[in-house]
Amino acid sequence: MIEINQVSHHFTLGKKGQQSHLDVLKDISFHVSEGEIVSIIGRSGSGKSTLLNLISGFIRPSEGEIIILDEKVSEFTEEEFADFRLKNMGFIFQSFQLIPSMTAYENVELPLILKGMSEQARKQMTLEMLKTVGLESFKDHYPSELSGGQQQRVSIARALILEPPLILADEPTGSLDSETEADLLAFIKKLNKERGITFVIITHDDEVAKIGHRTIEIADGELIRSGVFV
Ligand code: ATP
Ligand code: MG
Repeated sequence: MIEINQVSHHFTLGKKGQQSHLDVLKDISFHVSEGEIVSIIGRSGSGKSTLLNLISGFIRPSEGEIIILDEKVSEFTEEEFADFRLKNMGFIFQSFQLIPSMTAYENVELPLILKGMSEQARKQMTLEMLKTVGLESFKDHYPSELSGGQQQRVSIARALILEPPLILADEPTGSLDSETEADLLAFIKKLNKERGITFVIITHDDEVAKIGHRTIEIADGELIRSGVFV
């Protein structure tokens, strides 16, 4: 599903004329198979989010290649990546990234509008998805009228509504209490089992990492371990 081949990444810092390079990822290679849950762990600043941003195409690698679903995405244009993302990827962020001026229903419906679906088809799918995450009765609430866990479920419903084969999550449980965290992890496992959705989950919490079939550890931008060790 995902192949990362000798990927390195640096950021350029500072003003013109006095710039410096910050090497953030160094010669990273690994793969993720279809239907797998892979956890990525590592200390703060080790390069985890940068790695996920490379897979998501929000940034391009300084060196190396990334292949997803047999496409060399590291050579995609912005436009090609946007299209690929909409078709193939769902995202779950720690900060939810919900649109504050839209209700729970409207947030979840948004990807269907972007896809150009008819209103009737959108309504049916959106209500069904809200039901799946247990939020039918909160559909007309704005994000500010929902708890953190409920907002997270809205963001998950939005990530899943187009049933992407791949879901990328950056600290998905970061702002949840332990009970809501357990619910979310069970839900991820269920989706993986029942629908075969592949997950890449970044976390600094070993308990969360345990839901992965495999864990990859990054330290100072280098892949130092891969396997079953958490
Ligand atoms: P955390 O667990 O705190 O989220 P992380 O492992 O996700 O950390 P990254 O966000 O990938 O770490 O950052 C890795 C390094 O790259 C850090 O030193 C950070 O300051 C730097 N960095 C990240 N994004 C940028 C950017 N856009 N420009 C410059 N430097 C950046
Ligand atoms: Mg991060």
